[in-house]
Amino acid sequence: MSPAPAVGSANRDAHSVGTNGTTTVLSCGIIGVGIAGLAAAIALRRAGHNVEIFEKSTFKNEIGAAVTLTPNAMRVLHRWGFDAVRAGTTEKEQYRRLDAETLQVLAHYDFSNVREKFGTPGREHAFAAFHRVDLHEGLRAMVRELGVEVQLGREAVRVDCGEGVVRFRDGGEAKKDLLVVADGIKVSDSPSSHCDTQVETPLHQ
Ligand SMILES: Cc1cc2nc3c(=O)[nH]c(=O)nc-3n(C[C@H](O)[C@H](O)[C@H](O)COP(=O)(O)OP(=O)(O)OC[C@H]3O[C@@H](n4cnc5c(N)ncnc54)[C@H](O)[C@@H]3O)c2cc1C
Repeated sequence: MSPAPAVGSANRDAHSVGTNGTTTVLSCGIIGVGIAGLAAAIALRRAGHNVEIFEKSTFKNEIGAAVTLTPNAMRVLHRWGFDAVRAGTTEKEQYRRLDAETLQVLAHYDFSNVREKFGTPGREHAFAAFHRVDLHEGLRAMVRELGVEVQLGREAVRVDCGEGVVRFRDGGEAKKDLLVVADGIKVSDSPSSHCDTQVETPLHQ
């Protein structure tokens, strides 16, 4: 196996790591089963890698309100075979922000040209709003179908970036070729916050 890449690095060439022209199957660990963790799991699994997700909560009740998905994200979902209509998406046609007292329109964005500008891949909307719970459940179902194991109640407390090892609050640990920290917006208490090997890589490169 190849050495563990740095946590947080965009290992876009993971599928072509092999030195003799063969495809290397990586063992991947994902920390966090939010939208980002689920999406990373689907992409990696579809690329042929083995994936396991570690989630600190037990998710008895998933919560949330509206989440917006832009046309590029909708295209990715479509390519994965995600049934956005079944997941209850609605189309965003405009956005208006009003003064709470006078109802004067403070900001207005017209999205009616989005379909024409970016196209729509199928029967889905080009610029969509989901209830977070519906989107999460739909992605979760895809992850299940792809055979990805989700371990609930496993809080990562430390990530060893050099060794590719994640340690859990319950005392256990896991070693992976690739670790993806998808633990949401955090500043200081992320299990990988001590890693000085984190790099931010623009997605377009
Ligand atoms: C409960 C909830 C409700 C939300 N509701 C809305 C909403 O209504 N509208 C909106 O626009 N956005 C909402 N968001 C935010 C939105 O879903 C995310 O910001 C966005 O989708 C990015 O997702 P993410 O996967 O990066 O992060 P998140 O969705 O925050 O997911 C991170 C996951 O990592 C897990 N995690 C964190 N630390 C650890 C750890 N140390 N070990 C293991 N697991 C860990 C968390 O429990 C969580 O499941 C919500 C997020 C959450 C968690």
